[in-house]
Amino acid sequence: MRCPFCGYPDQKVLDSRPGIDGETIRRRRECTRCNRRFTTHERPERARLFVVKRDGSRQEFQRDKTLHSMLIACRKRRVAIEDLRDAVDSIERELYQEFEEELSSSVIGDKVMEALRDIDTVAYVRFASVYREFETLADFQEVLDSFKGRKRKVTARAS
Ligand SMILES: [Zn+2]
Repeated sequence: MRCPFCGYPDQKVLDSRPGIDGETIRRRRECTRCNRRFTTHERPERARLFVVKRDGSRQEFQRDKTLHSMLIACRKRRVAIEDLRDAVDSIERELYQEFEEELSSSVIGDKVMEALRDIDTVAYVRFASVYREFETLADFQEVLDSFKGRKRKVTARAS
C-alpha cells in the first residue's frame, strides 16, 4: 500500500479496529516518510465465480438462483427444502473446487439435473424439459427411458 500523499510504500499502523459493518477492518496508518496519516478499510477477499451463459454474458454465481430454479422444478412436489439446500451446498462446494474463475452455465444445469434425479423424478423431468429445451414428446421419452434399469440412490440419513 502506498501513502496517498507521497506514494511511499511503508507505513506504521497506529490503530486497527472493526469497521462499522463488522466485515471490514479499519486501520489508521502513518507514512514513515512524510508522517501524514490516513485510514484504510480492508475487506477479506472472497473467491468469486462467474457463470458464462449461453449468450456469452457473465454473471456472478449466486447459490440462491440455483436454489430458486430447483424450487420451481419442485413446485407442488413433496420435497423437503432441506434436501434442496443440501443439494445446493454440495453443488456450490463442487463448483468452488472444480473452477477458479468462471464456468459455463451448463455445468450448473447438469449438476442440478443430477441432484434432482435423486430427489424427485417429476422435478427432474420438469427441470430437464426447460433446461434442455425439450420440443418433442420424444425428448421426454428419452429422459424417462434413462430411468429404466437405474436403481434409485438411497441416502442414509443420520437422525
Ligand atoms: Zn507519505
